[in-house]
Amino acid sequence: MKIDGSCHCGSVAYEADIDPEDVLICHCTDCQTLSGSAFRTVVFVEEEGFKLLSGNPKTYIKTAESGRKRVQTFCPECGSPLYSTSVGQKPRKLGIRLGTARQRHQLPPKKQYWGRSAQNWIAEIGSIEMARKE
Ligand SMILES: [Zn+2]
Ligand SMILES: [Zn+2]
Repeated sequence: MKIDGSCHCGSVAYEADIDPEDVLICHCTDCQTLSGSAFRTVVFVEEEGFKLLSGNPKTYIKTAESGRKRVQTFCPECGSPLYSTSVGQKPRKLGIRLGTARQRHQLPPKKQYWGRSAQNWIAEIGSIEMARKE
């Protein structure tokens, strides 16, 4: 499935050819901090299936507790996270931040990871009052 997206200010834009089955939620503490949110939603793509259309993303190398390094890519102007990938060896997969994709409403997550660090209200999110729908 073809998707396209951009950062919040629009300076970085991309298109990608993704598998709708490869959409996940990550509850790890790094994803919470790096996204500024309770969890992160990601869709994976092979590097050759990703095309940068405009902009010049900045990168930050995150080192996990395991020592594993991940490249975090974001817009230098507005700070929107765009994707992460591995350091070095190819072929690489890119974990596109689903919130930047225009087709995100068509891509429900299929799996959740790192439930151990998930916020304890996640299971009850459907029962939290929706104060405004717009
Ligand atoms: Zn931007
Ligand atoms: Zn994570």
